[in-house]
Amino acid sequence: MVWRLWWGIALAALASPYADAQQADLNAPSLVLLNGKVLTMDAQSTVSEAIAVRDGKILAVGSSAAIRSLSGGQTKVIDLSGKTVIPGLIDTHVHFRAAGLGDYVVSMGRATTVAEALDAIKAFASKKKAGEWIIGSAWHPPSQLAEKRYLTRQEIDSVAPNNPVYLRTVGHFLMANSVALQKAGVGKETPDPDGGSFQRDASGELNGVLVETAIDRVEKAVPAWIEDDEFRQFRIAEGVLNSFGITSAVEGATSAAEISTLQRVALSGEATLRVAAMFRPEPPRELSAWEAIMSSNGASSGFGDDWLKFAGIKILYDGGMTLRTALMRDVYPDSHDDYHGITQQSPERLKALVSICNRYGWRVGVHVVGDKGVDQVLDAFEAVDKEKSIKDRRFVLIHGSLMRPEQMERARRLGVRVDFQNVFMWDKAATVERFLGKATADRAVPTKTLIEKLGMDNLGAGTDFPTNVINPFINFYVMVTRKDVNGQVYGEKEAISREQALRLYTSAASRYTFDETRKGTIEPGKLADLAVLSADPLSVAEDQIKDIKAELTLVNGKVVFQR
Ligand SMILES: [Zn+2]
Repeated sequence: MVWRLWWGIALAALASPYADAQQADLNAPSLVLLNGKVLTMDAQSTVSEAIAVRDGKILAVGSSAAIRSLSGGQTKVIDLSGKTVIPGLIDTHVHFRAAGLGDYVVSMGRATTVAEALDAIKAFASKKKAGEWIIGSAWHPPSQLAEKRYLTRQEIDSVAPNNPVYLRTVGHFLMANSVALQKAGVGKETPDPDGGSFQRDASGELNGVLVETAIDRVEKAVPAWIEDDEFRQFRIAEGVLNSFGITSAVEGATSAAEISTLQRVALSGEATLRVAAMFRPEPPRELSAWEAIMSSNGASSGFGDDWLKFAGIKILYDGGMTLRTALMRDVYPDSHDDYHGITQQSPERLKALVSICNRYGWRVGVHVVGDKGVDQVLDAFEAVDKEKSIKDRRFVLIHGSLMRPEQMERARRLGVRVDFQNVFMWDKAATVERFLGKATADRAVPTKTLIEKLGMDNLGAGTDFPTNVINPFINFYVMVTRKDVNGQVYGEKEAISREQALRLYTSAASRYTFDETRKGTIEPGKLADLAVLSADPLSVAEDQIKDIKAELTLVNGKVVFQR
């Protein structure tokens, strides 16, 4: 069998001249990777040359000569020609199905002006039949667009007059055009629902912007994807993540329907990404209903296998830095009233929700960003720990972006992890500065302090894609430089070393799913999940870290991506 990689190396099975080759082959590797620079990320940070793979696992790591000598007649050979190999990357917080929506959803993330946003909708509409729904990816016009406002119904009509258009945001607003409002049965005379509104212009006409509960009215009219669409979306998305060297992901807020589709993907044998799901049921009003969800299927966190694992329950607490909704100890700088941000639940209700999960053996990850929010989540964790210990269960603070040093010490005492996303500050640092001030922007995602206070083992890096870009090497670059997309430095003293950054994506990240003996390093017995890179992230010139590309990605010993 011969494979040809882009760099022109022929992969040939080594012919064995010996008669007993048949026998020896039983123990021979199916694949060897030779002549590379293998960053094993083991405890000693060993750098090696070659890897042998069999049955989806790493069989041996060593010199090219030693690994070559293990080969049998059927062993495939990849000559790495000096290229760097790292353990497959693990993104510990990502909503990755979004990477498979290109054919399904108009991407609004790149628009910087109203005109660009309208152009994106127009181009997408030209590929759709009249009457087909056009759904937008979640975006945030007020912080994203130069005009700092939402699009109006009339503007959207001007580029897509014959299709219902529905544009989600990451906040509590939504935009719809005339056809979409018509299909939802919403007109000029429709009264505002409780807890929401249909925005109107000066003449009383609907402008297409829907607020809070008014969103539900239109949402109901949008047809759901059929299961085959979702299957295809996940499969495409897995391939996109593989193209960045990502081989495992923690899906950050998985619906029941998505878990069912992910299970179909895993069972199909077509999966190319190992997925851990943070199940996110919407907490019902009644705690007894929440208890029924937690107790009814008999499973608990960790249920699953190397392809799909149930990682825990995701609960939302506060908001976000660029939405002005993170719950802060200090009043917001430009606030005229006593505004500190918002939460989805009261502290008492959060404690009750977490307590029920804990009682039934579920590990909990809470979305929390602001420092006051972190206070309250830690209060809840401390309280439930007294009911039933959470110490070895690795409860998670998801984001923890504005965590304070003494909070990190509290988290450590509880065995709580923090999984953060420096890449948020790649394209949003200036907005954080505008909303919360320079000092807060500088201390956002305090990575070095987190490592000092919590230790590498209790931390992991991720992207929160599609909120932020998926590219791990941009995240890596922000971690080590603290620079944003414009080269502006935020909180230089929170910069970390390259080796630490790589561990946050590999050996440390594997602990999120209790998989430190299964993956995250290149050592015998571990899963053969590997990424071959265009450059060594530990030694390439600093400004080139963000340009590193995955050239070859293997999952379970199989090539799943090749540039
Ligand atoms: Zn998220």
